Amino acid sequence: MKRALVTGGNRGIGMAIASKLVDHGHDVVIGSRDLAAGEKVANKLGATAVELDLSDPQSIAQAAKQAGPVDILVNNAVILGSGSLLNDPKDFADSMAIMVHGPYLLMHHLTPHMVSQRFGRVVNVSSGWGAFSDGVAGPAGYGVAKAALNALTVATARTLPNSVKVNAMCPGWVRTRMGGMGASRSPDQGADTAIWLATLPASGPTGGFFRDRNPINW
Ligand code: NDP
Repeated sequence: MKRALVTGGNRGIGMAIASKLVDHGHDVVIGSRDLAAGEKVANKLGATAVELDLSDPQSIAQAAKQAGPVDILVNNAVILGSGSLLNDPKDFADSMAIMVHGPYLLMHHLTPHMVSQRFGRVVNVSSGWGAFSDGVAGPAGYGVAKAALNALTVATARTLPNSVKVNAMCPGWVRTRMGGMGASRSPDQGADTAIWLATLPASGPTGGFFRDRNPINW
């Protein structure tokens, strides 16, 4: 049994990832900025919850402490602005905080344990909109933040030993609050590649970008 922390695990793809990790027999902690919402879902799934607001470094440090020694970190939480890139500086700052600086700080706090245990799996839930090959798309700061999360994935994978695997993935277009109800995939389908990466064997890849369990272009 491994201990997993899933950010934004109170809804959408994060909730599906948390649920599947529980099914795999793992001890799952849901990070939720609304603790009551996190606890409600955690009780249903057989997980626990910690309060985690990724826009607040103090909340991140406190949540990392409360979560205890984590073996599997899933950086899943997201905000999606609706404006245009250069017209919304607050959205840009929030996107970078929640999708880049927050994941960076969680890795800062949690990977020393992974390194000392010689086991760790970090899954950065990214998006095709963060790929240079797809033009770094999406509204407001989203694509730039996901491109930066991809860069963080490559750089941290290179920095860490091979026993701690850091990979990015795109879930496809998924029916969630962010994806909307017209999307083609269920949250369970969107979670599949994240679960595969969270449970990779020692021979598995690190520093890669995947969709449907296959490598995709950065
Ligand atoms: P949802 O909008 O359904 O859920 C987003 C989650 O992030 C919620 O739990 C939300 O909490 C949480 N969150 C937002 N802000 C913060 C914050 N400041 N601190 C902590 N948590 C926060 O998104 P999805 O499930 O659709 O997306 C999950 C991941 O999948 C994201 O990384 C997204 O970029 C990626 N993705 C999704 C696609 C899709 O089609 N859905 C397509 C491509 C990628 P709260 O409930 O409190 O708002």
